[in-house]
Amino acid sequence: MSRFLRECYDSLVPYTPGEQLNDKKYIKLNTNESPYPPSPKVKEVLSGEVIDNLKLYSDPELKALKDAIAEHFGLKRENVFCGNGSDDVIAFSIMAFCGNGGELCCPDITYSFYPVYCDLFKANLIQKPLKDDFTIDVNDYIGINKNIIIANPNAPTGLVLTVDEIEKIVASNPDNIVIIDEAYVDFCTETCVGLLKKYKNLIVTQTFSKSRSLAGLRLGFALASEEIIEDLEKIKYSFNPYNINTLGVTAGAAAIADDDYYRECNRKTVAIREKTKLMLKDCGFECLDSQSNFIFAKHNKIPAEQLYLKLKEKGILIRYFNKPRISEYVRITVGDDWQMEEFVSAVSLIAKEF
Ligand SMILES: *Cc1c(COP(=O)(O)O)cnc(C)c1O
Repeated sequence: MSRFLRECYDSLVPYTPGEQLNDKKYIKLNTNESPYPPSPKVKEVLSGEVIDNLKLYSDPELKALKDAIAEHFGLKRENVFCGNGSDDVIAFSIMAFCGNGGELCCPDITYSFYPVYCDLFKANLIQKPLKDDFTIDVNDYIGINKNIIIANPNAPTGLVLTVDEIEKIVASNPDNIVIIDEAYVDFCTETCVGLLKKYKNLIVTQTFSKSRSLAGLRLGFALASEEIIEDLEKIKYSFNPYNINTLGVTAGAAAIADDDYYRECNRKTVAIREKTKLMLKDCGFECLDSQSNFIFAKHNKIPAEQLYLKLKEKGILIRYFNKPRISEYVRITVGDDWQMEEFVSAVSLIAKEF
């Protein structure tokens, strides 16, 4: 740390992303990326013309991208806000609606970026403990008169609330913002985008990083009422009007239009997830019933940190969180069939040492 950093940042603990190692070839099951390539349409559009156009600034209004997203969801361009990853969108939302002494309420075990943003933007964080089975107690959020953020499916548990349950939360807090982070929604059945027609206090965020195989592109979006989107644009234009570059606009619009391709990829991931849950049970794991593209699991013999380290030695990366309540668990991204078989056979070998 230099002696110039403002004191108010002394205690800031930044988010720790999953490892992106390249000292050797790993089977990467640690950051919930897709094992499948992006839609072939993405390759088609990233050609000479777009590259020539890079000499110009990108469109700050993001018309092509917003229109493609709006069409996909049956909404209007005015209901869409885009960010450099959904992290960016969540950051702007917390800054706009909770920062400088506001409040944000979320589960104690959830995406660990939310508390970091609260700290950075000076929002008071209120954490509601998950139940012992790691489910969210909906009653903790009914009529609390506070801003709320919930990942649905939740991370790193993979467990879901139903749209009816979310509606109760949104309807009972009409004077506050409710953000539903749907980073993993394409691996389960229900999105709450339909609630946007009825509720003006709801923000739904999604990302191109997981179900759309474009983690490296850095693209995410929020869907909300026109008024809320105007607020987010106000923040964006005060910070970085060109937060999405031309490659992102072009590739993102092509990707979201190729629904058939991604439906098939996500169908495969869901099928492999269900098969993997059974394989994991057979090799000594207890798994939560994830509706996502990862599985949160605990081995009956191998301590979680040991499992993580020994797999890493063998060239397989998974995620281990050294945090209260979840330090006995690991999070395993659902890869392709071959990756999951390699994972299970590596675990079986490791288990013999315990
Ligand atoms: C991965 C993830 C995100 C953000 O991903 P981006 O790559 O920034 O779009 C947001 N929320 C949750 C719960 C995630 O797991």
